[in-house]
Amino acid sequence: MSNVTVCVRFRPLSSKEKRDLGDNICIQSMDSETFIIKDEKEEGFTFSFDKVFYEESNQADVYEFLVLPIVRDTVNSINGTIITYGQTGAGKTYSMEGPNILESDEKKKGILPRVVDGLFACIKTSADSTKYTVKLSMVEIYMEKVRDLFDLSKDNIQIKESKTQGIVLSGATEISLSDTAEALQSLSTEMNMASSRSHCVYMFTLNQESISEKRVKSGKLILVDLAGSEKVEKTGAEGRVLEEAKTINKSLSALGNVINALTCGSPAKANHIPYRDSKLTRMLQDALGGNSRTALLCCCSPSPSNASESLSTLRFGARAKHIKTSPLVIKVSEEKCSKKNGDASGTRDESFEKILEKMSERLNDEDIELLEELFIQAGLFVDPDSEEDLESAIQDVVQQTISSLMKAVEELRSTVEMLQRENNAMKGRLAVAERCDALPGKNADFLQKIFGFLSSFIPGM
Ligand code: ADP
Ligand code: MG
Repeated sequence: MSNVTVCVRFRPLSSKEKRDLGDNICIQSMDSETFIIKDEKEEGFTFSFDKVFYEESNQADVYEFLVLPIVRDTVNSINGTIITYGQTGAGKTYSMEGPNILESDEKKKGILPRVVDGLFACIKTSADSTKYTVKLSMVEIYMEKVRDLFDLSKDNIQIKESKTQGIVLSGATEISLSDTAEALQSLSTEMNMASSRSHCVYMFTLNQESISEKRVKSGKLILVDLAGSEKVEKTGAEGRVLEEAKTINKSLSALGNVINALTCGSPAKANHIPYRDSKLTRMLQDALGGNSRTALLCCCSPSPSNASESLSTLRFGARAKHIKTSPLVIKVSEEKCSKKNGDASGTRDESFEKILEKMSERLNDEDIELLEELFIQAGLFVDPDSEEDLESAIQDVVQQTISSLMKAVEELRSTVEMLQRENNAMKGRLAVAERCDALPGKNADFLQKIFGFLSSFIPGM
């Protein structure tokens, strides 16, 4: 079980902040993990995170500490998610993308182009017997609608849960990438569409086909550049902008609620995590609820003028630090093992893991082992929480009903055919009997015997 990695990044003071308050900052560094921040009333709060990137930190530091381990995991088919959080202007997009996605200055490149480099670098060094494909989807969540940034006509993409792939964006355009330059070019065209008033989501899927072992593995890496987390009242927004701000606040508070439920849910409520309360939380369900290695970068301004927003960002990060996740290699599928063979062992293991994971928070090791045994004995593998599992169970029942109906119709048809044959035979006998009746004595008896004899050979007579 590993926690979400939570880091904080303070950007350098902006020219406006410098103009207003000179070189004043509200943070005091203790070491690379701990600092003190003072609020407007000069009250100090100490925070510790996995790592703090102060103003002078560079993009490579962030990538190497926070992102590179997750890129390596993706290549090993463990899903990963990297999220940037903070008020508008705090440095989320700068950290995620850099000043520009096609930035040529190696030092300024952000997480996204480094991830693309990292994925293709891993592919280059891998064995020849493995065939890789990298696919990319890009969507934004704006006013609770998921829009495909590669095809703007798809403005209401549905988020679905798949048994084998976890959360998927149903019908979203997936472009195949064969090299870094191509990937960055695709990103640069579409990135202009992304707004800071929406949550921007980049989803990489890396498939590996091992030719010798006939196995397909896949890892998903999701990068999320969240919309600004500032409070509505501070922005002085009106009209449509106010509506946007409210929706953003709503989805970010849904994210906060999910984190609360995951970290300090009361035992009675422990099983209900409100992922479905917003598109954002639904999309991040895998990332937050297990099945993914997750990193959160909390971006803050070091200026005293933004101290209260920075504090709220830091509190959010501190809470997220308590989430426990258990990343799994879930998508290993044997090419030969089709559904036809009824082999659901991968799914079964996955469901066991999920259920046991939930229970392990409240039970001791022996109980967990016993439950594991019982699950295996009972052949239990349908996760009642999983919509996908229930859907496929329903599909199975429908399929069974249809095939038993078809069998019944087939039986009915052959019975009808048999009855028709018998009916014809009766008619034939009746006609002969009538004719025989017209004949005198012995002749009639003789003919009836002949008819009886022939009818046993000729059906329908
Ligand atoms: P956000 O996406 O959180 O709204 P941005 O990433 O757009 O904020 O950052 C706001 C401004 O601050 C931009 O002009 C950006 O270039 C600058 N900036 C942010 N972080 C840094 C940094 N670490 N170093 C230099 N400039 C930064
Ligand atoms: Mg931004």
